[in-house]
Amino acid sequence: MSTSYWLDRSSPQNRRTYDAIIVGGGISGLSTAYWLKKEDPSLKVAVVEKSRLAFGASGRNAGFITGGSVEHFNRMITKHGLETATAIWRFAQENLRLLKEEIIQDQGAPLGFEQNGAYSLAAQPTEFAELKKVSEIMSSLKIRTEIIEEKDIPSRVGARGFVGGIKYLDDASVNPVALVHRLHERAGADLFEGTEAYAIESTSEGTRILKTDQGDFEAAMILMNLNGYSARLHPWFKDKIYATRGQCLMMEAVPRFMDAPCYANFYLDYFRQIPSGELLIGGFRQVEKETEVGYSDHTTEPIQNALYEFVVSHLPQFKDAKVTHRWSGVMGFARDGEPMVGALPDDNQVFFAGGYTAHGIGLSFHTTKCLIDAVFGRSVPDWLSARRFG
Ligand SMILES: Cc1cc2nc3c(=O)[nH]c(=O)nc-3n(C[C@H](O)[C@H](O)[C@H](O)COP(=O)(O)OP(=O)(O)OC[C@H]3O[C@@H](n4cnc5c(N)ncnc54)[C@H](O)[C@@H]3O)c2cc1C
Repeated sequence: MSTSYWLDRSSPQNRRTYDAIIVGGGISGLSTAYWLKKEDPSLKVAVVEKSRLAFGASGRNAGFITGGSVEHFNRMITKHGLETATAIWRFAQENLRLLKEEIIQDQGAPLGFEQNGAYSLAAQPTEFAELKKVSEIMSSLKIRTEIIEEKDIPSRVGARGFVGGIKYLDDASVNPVALVHRLHERAGADLFEGTEAYAIESTSEGTRILKTDQGDFEAAMILMNLNGYSARLHPWFKDKIYATRGQCLMMEAVPRFMDAPCYANFYLDYFRQIPSGELLIGGFRQVEKETEVGYSDHTTEPIQNALYEFVVSHLPQFKDAKVTHRWSGVMGFARDGEPMVGALPDDNQVFFAGGYTAHGIGLSFHTTKCLIDAVFGRSVPDWLSARRFG
């Protein structure tokens, strides 16, 4: 976003002053607010959101709280080595533990929270062979999984056309909008919806000004939680976090038959029957990879058709059900696939967390805890630190 001289001069002149300003009202922004207030309850914290709470990817995702990453663990080991791959997986497990302990507590039902595990299903024997290898490695690390043979898939999740799968026994799922609202209640920060930030400036007193279409905010520090939108506020993110679109559809309810959410095809596609019995299915970016970038939240026919055809061929229980919703959201894919926290190289009072690469529900609560560690001068894991980009 840019603004004209005339609009800038005509914006509200009353500058609002805070100790910290968080930009972005998604799960990452509200988690940051939570940890910051937990660190120091006396801090005056504002969250600035251009639309309304959870209007970005946080309100448009599938609600999987997944362990690890969006790659099979054997591939994570090839990419990072065993030690770092294990650290990333344990980091996600800790994300879920922290969410349960700090936010969900014993009030999971209003959040649609369920911890029934999650499947990754293979349509090809080669992928199933990888999953068996994953299960072996995980058992040596004491991470709980179960191998599912082809004959058992229909009775577990009602799906046809898969040759086998793995179940991650500790994964969970949630209503992501309800979760962001709960985070907001627990964080106790002031929320400014309908407020779009367009620039960050420094003052001679050493504070920072966040310029927005609703006037200026001043604080000692600014924390950017914009994920896919990060590069629109600061160019440093242009070659580090890429705006990438994901599409979904929802089908009307049938009696519940799936015992847990499912991924398929190397995490590219996913489906789950939510507690009401409705079916959410998403993915198929691979159909039109070139168009699935940028900031638009439109849906496209080829991907929506692919999603529907998947339901017809793999989930016969839904063949007569109607599609009730179609949507898309903007994700932030990191250059190396892992999230990042840090301060801008040219401004150590502007911090950020993002690059969740389709995995922010499973990673952002713990990531933002590390962001607050960075703010207060404590160390963060090398694989998570934005210093890895130099
Ligand atoms: C279809 C889909 C399915 C997904 N499924 C899953 C899943 O099952 N599990 C999982 O872990 N992850 C999933 N993800 C990814 C997950 O949703 C994201 O990683 C996560 O929501 C990122 O949260 P965030 O708060 O960082 O970003 P966002 O939720 O995108 O929040 C950024 C906010 O910033 C606001 N904003 C943007 N620009 C400005 C500005 N200039 N000024 C003020 N505010 C601004 C936006 O309106 C937005 O609300 C999915 C994503 C999509 C799109």
